[in-house]
Amino acid sequence: MKTAMLRSVGAALRRSAASSTPSTPSHLLRRSCYSTGAHPERKVTVLGAAGGIGQPLSLLMKLNPLVSSLSLYDIANTPGVAADVSHINSRAQVAGFAGEEQLGKALEGSDVVVIPAGVPRKPGMTRDDLFNINAGIVKSLCIAISKYCPNALVNMISNPVNSTVPIAAEVFKKAGTYDEKKLFGVTTLDVVRAKTFYAGKANVPVAEVNVPVVGGHAGITILPLFAQATPKANLSDEVITALTKRTQDGGTEVVEAKAGKGSATLSMA
Ligand code: NAD
Repeated sequence: MKTAMLRSVGAALRRSAASSTPSTPSHLLRRSCYSTGAHPERKVTVLGAAGGIGQPLSLLMKLNPLVSSLSLYDIANTPGVAADVSHINSRAQVAGFAGEEQLGKALEGSDVVVIPAGVPRKPGMTRDDLFNINAGIVKSLCIAISKYCPNALVNMISNPVNSTVPIAAEVFKKAGTYDEKKLFGVTTLDVVRAKTFYAGKANVPVAEVNVPVVGGHAGITILPLFAQATPKANLSDEVITALTKRTQDGGTEVVEAKAGKGSATLSMA
């Protein structure tokens, strides 16, 4: 699972950009991408775009200068989200698609597909409790991806990520389109939380913090390596144990605070 985890959707976009100019060093490519305005055409599709994560994620994709075409798909309510987001004065052309019959059109030609489709947790649920519903949703979306944009980078947000990524892999293998370098479980939020919580305890500027996080995206499978965190801080074993537990339980902290109204959406986006 470790290699399939994506710590940033921006990284997927940069990887997509980098694949078109293999001779350019990545640090130069990144800088030029943000300074020259000469970005390649890139289509990003969000599946589940009208949801709690989907809406702020669509907003952020619209603001991303690497995106030239933004396709917003959900089973319902996407025309409104697309109309709203499309008024933002940034580069990406926005189109909304609603209902299964429009899924193919939404996906056609996508370079990156992000999947926050499915149901979120309620208090008392684990991510595994979502499996029965979300496995079927992810399976049918991945069948469509293998048909309409088999070369896209696929970023899986839908939980349980530890299981939905293998489901996607099996669908793609069956379709003959599987590429292990193009399928990612999105675990960025674990890194985001680890950095925020570490900065608070270590009393260092959060923007300078780096914390490697390995493993999966559920409870004890989330492994923040605080011993390797920078800037270095002299934290006791007790504090590191508490930071580890808080990072692993960060999702549950939000689920309980939202009291039945869903799980993390804004920090996730
Ligand atoms: P939500 O219920 O607010 O939104 C989900 C959206 O998916 C809804 O708009 C719904 O209409 C749509 N949807 C359902 N079936 C669909 C289908 N077949 N095709 C397209 N869209 C479909 O939920 P949310 O809060 O946005 O969470 C979405 C998923 O993300 C959940 O599974 C949640 O557990 C997961 N999540 C993952 C992380 C992570 O770190 N990877 C963090 C938080 C939440």
